[in-house]
Amino acid sequence: MTVLPITYIGDPVLRTPTRPVTRDELADAAMQRFIDDLIDTMRDAAGAGIAANQVGRSVRICAVEVGEATTRRYPYKPPIPLTVLVNPTLEYLGDDTYANNEGCLSVPDLRGDLRRHIRVVATAWDRHGNDLLTKVAGLTAGTYQHEVDHLDGIIFVDRVEDTRSFSTWDEFDRHHRSHFVERITKFVDDIGS
Ligand code: ZN
Repeated sequence: MTVLPITYIGDPVLRTPTRPVTRDELADAAMQRFIDDLIDTMRDAAGAGIAANQVGRSVRICAVEVGEATTRRYPYKPPIPLTVLVNPTLEYLGDDTYANNEGCLSVPDLRGDLRRHIRVVATAWDRHGNDLLTKVAGLTAGTYQHEVDHLDGIIFVDRVEDTRSFSTWDEFDRHHRSHFVERITKFVDDIGS
């Protein structure tokens, strides 16, 4: 297991759109090891997702997973099976959005409110270059949008419209968490994901 160092906001690699990878690059043993390390790093940090540029590598690859380690931190998040997205693109299904509250491994101790599309379709390759078409909704769709944003050089803070919603994790827990969890749990139940 290899945990890579995480890049933080201010590092230009997070502001640079990543480049797509070729099938040959993806098949290379070194790239496959990198994907293993990316997954190890995401799990070690208990993140719901991670993008390659969050560990300093400007390639269009991200991983998402909400497993046991993550649900201990965010019990309201529906599980997401481990999914590696290579060269992903997202298509929004309809204009419906919901208010989410997000944080980011690359933005230490900050959370904020932003809107995400409720339903998206991701087109990508899996880590072996097979075509992947995934339709996701709700918080899972929010996680997909957060990670693909990273690959485009966008950080969640860019999408926060009301900067007064920013809070540290402690202040979020103290003042906002119970209200957010109540609202988002109802939303997750309504949306079915
Ligand atoms: Zn992030």
